[in-house]
Amino acid sequence: MKINLKALQAEEITEFAENLGQSRYKANQIINWLYKKYASSFTDMTDLSKSFKDILDKKAFISNLKILKVQVSKDGTHKFLFELEDSRTIESVLIPDSDRLTLCISSQVGCAMGCEFCITGSLKLKRNLRAHEIFDQVITVQRLVSENKVRLRQGFYSRKITNIVFMGMGEPLNNLPEVIEAVRKLTGLLGFSKRRITVSTCGIVPGIDELARGRTGVNLAVSLNAVTDAARNKIMPVNKKYPLHKLVQACRKYPLPPGRRITFEYVLLKGINDSMDDAVRLVRLLKGIRAKVNLIPFNEPVKNSGFSKPSEAGVLAFQKVLLDAKIAAIIRKSRGRDISAACGQLGALKWTRAGKPVLPSG
Ligand code: SF4
Repeated sequence: MKINLKALQAEEITEFAENLGQSRYKANQIINWLYKKYASSFTDMTDLSKSFKDILDKKAFISNLKILKVQVSKDGTHKFLFELEDSRTIESVLIPDSDRLTLCISSQVGCAMGCEFCITGSLKLKRNLRAHEIFDQVITVQRLVSENKVRLRQGFYSRKITNIVFMGMGEPLNNLPEVIEAVRKLTGLLGFSKRRITVSTCGIVPGIDELARGRTGVNLAVSLNAVTDAARNKIMPVNKKYPLHKLVQACRKYPLPPGRRITFEYVLLKGINDSMDDAVRLVRLLKGIRAKVNLIPFNEPVKNSGFSKPSEAGVLAFQKVLLDAKIAAIIRKSRGRDISAACGQLGALKWTRAGKPVLPSG
């Protein structure tokens, strides 16, 4: 059986080359082609001899994500629809913002967690992604960006993805071994700083502990969205298994390097979690945690979701309670709404091979 080179770590590629009677130098050439020049085939590796490429072709292959569709939002956000080897599809979102170019990547096909405000959750879990399928999202988009094939807005010059967030389809902590392996490749082979990688969870408490034990040094984000168990149980079923006090306890234990904070995502849903009492409870809940809160006013992602948008004044008043308590709280606008690329919208559309969107059948 042929070996997928992208499924190997650097030292394994060296071992593979040495087993073929090749030098460490040749192994480094392959690594360089895969992870510095984003080669998608052996043919791309122009400085390897034809005879070596023939050997490689017999023994190995390079997996690639197939780009089915790229959509561009009015605000410059790009959404990519990728096809995997088993024909399932996943999405990634590229968000240009001032001097940052953030890629939001998926860790699963679908998701089992069933958060009420999220379309991906309604798709149910199809399968976990393998580590190479996770970091291939980064390689594929980075290749398009560096080849100028992604239309970034005028005046935006970065040709390199600067930040990676595991906030696409799936719950990363339900696929932790592959996520950790992907993180190791992103830092070791693609050169990303762990400070610029964020893993987000809906609140899988043992996963938070395990992520801490994995010593990846990545940032942690928690999708919180409610401050009482009663309210959180209604919108995030995970809370029934891991209630708020356990979640907060795990966050308190998470080893944070100096100067780093845990990000708490809070989607404001009118009449559900946006009262002044909720804001005060949030302050109490986060007491003693080095925290930053992203307030995301809900914006109807699909019709008849049953949730509505909070008033602007209400959002500002909620933020003020946090700021007065010296908690960093930023109001975030959802990006890429017009192309269904915002939080909770991924997987909203299935696509025909011809690239025409079709609504999910349910
Ligand atoms: S919000 Fe995240 S964890 Fe919840 S259903 Fe959606 S993808 Fe899954």
